[in-house]
Amino acid sequence: MIPRGKILVSACFLGHPVRYDGQAKTLDRPLLQEWNALGYLTLACPELAGGLPVPRQAAEIVGGQGLEVLNGTAEVFNRAGYNVSSYFLEGAHKTLQMALHHGVIAAFLKQRSPSCGTREAYDGTFSGQVITGIGVTAALLQQKGIPAFGEDQWDKLLSFVT
Ligand code: SF4
Repeated sequence: MIPRGKILVSACFLGHPVRYDGQAKTLDRPLLQEWNALGYLTLACPELAGGLPVPRQAAEIVGGQGLEVLNGTAEVFNRAGYNVSSYFLEGAHKTLQMALHHGVIAAFLKQRSPSCGTREAYDGTFSGQVITGIGVTAALLQQKGIPAFGEDQWDKLLSFVT
């Protein structure tokens, strides 16, 4: 099964140890590996693109979700209480530029990340509470017409890209 165009994918899904804790979040999806080998994937880590290091403090959106961070009415804070919104905004815009440059037709992103989450997020209290929400990068991609799917939306991604 071959996609009809390129797909932007969270780098941590393909084994890159770029998460806040220095780990990857490798997905056991042979088709994804195959697409990567065939050159259909554009891998991105928005938080690294925005200038954050590995490892880094966990971060959550406070006062809204990705769209609100984009319009300046919510902020991203790390666990130490430092406002890291500018890094997340920079990462989102760089990732969008990468997506446009590669002509991607969709994004496949890590759920619950304050950058990549497509429909689930942590509630901003660092208590592990999950709410409905979207990350900064996923929100910007969607805003610019690039649909973003989480790992729990694999079937929807397949329907869209094939
Ligand atoms: Fe993975 Fe996205 Fe977090 Fe980078 S920002 S580690 S790609 S979930």
